[in-house]
Amino acid sequence: MSWLDIIFPRYCLGANCEGQQRLLNKYELGLLCPECRDKNLTWIDQPSCLRCGQWYGEGALTFDQCRNCIDQPHAYTAIRSSLVADEHSMELLKAWKYDKQVGIWQEMQIWTQAWQKHIDNLTEIHDLQHPLIVPVPTTRASYMKRGFNQAEWLAQELNKQLNKQLIKQLTKQTALDGTANYSDCLISKNKNKQARLLRSQRLKNPGSKGAASQQFDIKKLRQSTKAKLLNRDILLIDDICTTGATAHACAKVLKRELKARNVFLLTLLRKTW
Ligand SMILES: [Zn+2]
Ligand SMILES: [Zn+2]
Repeated sequence: MSWLDIIFPRYCLGANCEGQQRLLNKYELGLLCPECRDKNLTWIDQPSCLRCGQWYGEGALTFDQCRNCIDQPHAYTAIRSSLVADEHSMELLKAWKYDKQVGIWQEMQIWTQAWQKHIDNLTEIHDLQHPLIVPVPTTRASYMKRGFNQAEWLAQELNKQLNKQLIKQLTKQTALDGTANYSDCLISKNKNKQARLLRSQRLKNPGSKGAASQQFDIKKLRQSTKAKLLNRDILLIDDICTTGATAHACAKVLKRELKARNVFLLTLLRKTW
């Protein structure tokens, strides 16, 4: 037992263990026991639409592009998410936004590890090379309220995971040259949270409003810093994807300002419809 377990004994919060006071042991990180993590959460192994990452349910067919993607072309190349945004996963994600307690963060780290298979898959399909990891920026108002940008934590976590792997693969440290893997180069110019439109709202205001109302830009960068960010494959990181409008808006800026090759969005959760 670690001292954290003594101070904060962790009980599985999953529905299978409800009322049983199932204590998590030191090898069981996070908030759920492995069985509950498997049974209560819906993991996306492969999305139904390989572009926007939408998921139609277990056993549904897989398409290169869905109807939405054909009707509304977007600037990003693909979206992938670890889990379906349902009652269970949303509850845990929300808990993290308001409480950075160690168990919750461990749970989020486990969810980010599920990105690896998606990255492998994207590498195969799109020849992803040495990607630059960029968090989706938050508005100043929301940062002030929460005190942190969850996307930034997730992006740094992924950067750590990928670097660890890289070091394992490399025999020579020299291959880890000065090329940046992580950059918080995007800034949000949105005045309020409303820019993150819900699909229902967007459907009420058809046309370009959803994406157009989201404004992102590139930070002022030194020439030498910017040079390392040019012509890269980019993994955008966010906690949740609702419509893909944020990914589209960010990808447009990254392509225009940094000549990004391909922009992918990785999120923990995916809203489905
Ligand atoms: Zn459990
Ligand atoms: Zn699609």
